[in-house]
Amino acid sequence: MVQGVGFRPFVCRLARANALAGWVVNGEHGVEIYVEGDESPLDAFVRDLKAQPPPAARITALGIEPVEPVGLKEFTIRESRRLDQPSVRISADLPVCDTCLRELFDAPDRRHNYPYINCTNCGPRYSIVLSLPYDRSGTTMKDWPMDDYCAAQYEDPADRRFHAQPVACPACGPHYYLRTGEEVIGGDEASIRHTVALLRAGAIVAAKGIGGYHLACDARNAPAVWALRERKYRKEKPFALMVKNCEVARELVELSPEAEALLASVARPIVLAPAKAELGGVAPENGELGLMLPYTPLHHLLFACGAPDALVMTSGNRSSESIAYEDADALERLAGIADAFLVGERPIARRVEDSVARAGAWGPVILRRSRGYAPGAVARLPIQRPALAVGADLKNTVTLVVDGQAFVSQHIGDLDDYSSFRAFQETIEDLVAMYEVRWDDLLVVHDAHPEYLSASQAHALPAQNKVPVQHHRAHVASVLAEREDWETRVAGLSLDGTGYGDDGTIWGGEIFIGSVAEGFERLIHLRPAALPGGDAAAGHPVQAAAGFLGQVDGLPDLGGAPFGFPKRYFDALELTKRGLRTFTTTSMGRLFDTGAALLGFTRPITFEGQAAVWLEHLGRSAPLTDTYPFPLAGDELDFRPLLHAVACDRQRGRPAREIARAFHRGIAQGLCEAAQTLCAQHGLHTIVLSGGVFQNDLLLRDLKELLSGPFAVWTNRVVPPNDGGISLGQAALAALQEHSNQ
Ligand SMILES: [Zn+2]
Ligand SMILES: [Zn+2]
Repeated sequence: MVQGVGFRPFVCRLARANALAGWVVNGEHGVEIYVEGDESPLDAFVRDLKAQPPPAARITALGIEPVEPVGLKEFTIRESRRLDQPSVRISADLPVCDTCLRELFDAPDRRHNYPYINCTNCGPRYSIVLSLPYDRSGTTMKDWPMDDYCAAQYEDPADRRFHAQPVACPACGPHYYLRTGEEVIGGDEASIRHTVALLRAGAIVAAKGIGGYHLACDARNAPAVWALRERKYRKEKPFALMVKNCEVARELVELSPEAEALLASVARPIVLAPAKAELGGVAPENGELGLMLPYTPLHHLLFACGAPDALVMTSGNRSSESIAYEDADALERLAGIADAFLVGERPIARRVEDSVARAGAWGPVILRRSRGYAPGAVARLPIQRPALAVGADLKNTVTLVVDGQAFVSQHIGDLDDYSSFRAFQETIEDLVAMYEVRWDDLLVVHDAHPEYLSASQAHALPAQNKVPVQHHRAHVASVLAEREDWETRVAGLSLDGTGYGDDGTIWGGEIFIGSVAEGFERLIHLRPAALPGGDAAAGHPVQAAAGFLGQVDGLPDLGGAPFGFPKRYFDALELTKRGLRTFTTTSMGRLFDTGAALLGFTRPITFEGQAAVWLEHLGRSAPLTDTYPFPLAGDELDFRPLLHAVACDRQRGRPAREIARAFHRGIAQGLCEAAQTLCAQHGLHTIVLSGGVFQNDLLLRDLKELLSGPFAVWTNRVVPPNDGGISLGQAALAALQEHSNQ
């Protein structure tokens, strides 16, 4: 990662410091450097190049070739040249750096209080790039010519803003303004001060950020938060917060050193951590809060001007729509939600939402990979031709492979929403155009589900070659792809809510053995259950529960106290008995829904995975004392003893949180037994965990305790364990298949 991170200016300064002559250029395969001079300064140059590159740069390979000197007198930065396909990497967007922050708050500085301050070490990248290579004319800053002041810095190799593409100052660059109804308040400082006054008064403000609009309000003002929920049609899904600094974060959540490091990391993700404070309406019935630190100069200015120290900062959209990033669209779509619009003039080239992460049992877990991470290359795959993997229908991302480099897109969302589906189509067009891939050459990879929207879109693309990949194998392969490990044979646990299986049933509790190169064979799975009503059951935990509990003998009356199951359960049970509109599933997600239903979650969910998250937080609030049986019987994990124990303990009056705790431990023990059995039978030493169920941190912590022994346990570290990681796994499996065909 050497473009847009101040790499060429760094090379130039380094060469000059060592009195070397030559040049540096953004070539089509990365950065090319030519230096000539004496041996010891040349050695020093190479050493420092490796040892102290700019903070956001990453060198994955460095090749050195001796040539005859031609007698150059000075060191220069050459214009980028284009020969072939651009395979260079575009950097993710960066948070404002400390040096720029000092200038931002330094009254005599030309950029004092200027919300678009940036330098080669910081600022937007991916969200402003229109075309590669990364030069100002290829960014959304092309309409603001630099004045003499900025141009002098831009052209001075000794300056921090040397070739900083979005460089600007109040005299020559874009500005913010505030729009309330018909009234417009111009001027950066005036519009920011007025915004702060509105936020303090409990208003909801749409503010333009890096990759889209946020909706902001005072997180400690419950009526404002509830008003935002109502206007956004967002019933219960937690809101993310932006806090003024780490002190405020520590006041609101239990911030482990790992979580704090993640919070302050260069990607500045939203970090989930156990809540210490109750903020009305922010995260109903959820034991965690999602926090991020300010990352743009605008955010810092808002807090410095007196904005409430904890702001709800949620994506500018209604319910499950995609985030608004164009001004006209935002003004229209958010008109009924925001009281005012803080509009920045610099256009956003593409939507990039905030990323979400957690400090998990095995290190950081990325739950939504977007701003700050995308579109960084995540792995090198053994495939020469370009490939496009279109991912899954939920939490969609796409992966483009060019010259073997796998670029995973930003989070796109759930494709059943039309605006997200459009975003999916646009992202494919955008990536293919940016890397100038020819459709004729492209291998397109899609999910095996015949009714997936992503798969039907793949069929409609003008490429010749299309390959299906089974959903749960893609999950396991995503973990191995991150490690570029194609040969290691593993036991792979792939657990999630739903995915299309080889036999046409709905899978979700699968254990495979194999490698990416040889493929994965399914050897163990959850005992099949009925799924009355098909995918609709995912929205109603009691409906899913009917399919599982219909197989459990000796249950108490679930219509009575303390269960109070509604009519929907008994209707679904009837469907199951008569085999009407009933499918077969091995979904672990639905098993968690069943556990949640037995412990009191009998209403419909309002966002994906809600019942499982509820059950996890219930379980986290109790100490570990015992476990429920979840035995391996042949090639099936049998849920019947587990659910029987849960129902009977609840009937007996055992506190629900203690039952939830033992439920998690039981699942962990069953999985552990299954994985260890496969390892022993097949001489394997590595266990892979992937799929949306592994977003559950309580389950991960239990597994970490239980899976000690002569095993390595590999989890996702770069892409999400949920369906956001599917596209990478698809690309890897298709690449290896292609590789072995050659
Ligand atoms: Zn900076
Ligand atoms: Zn200027």
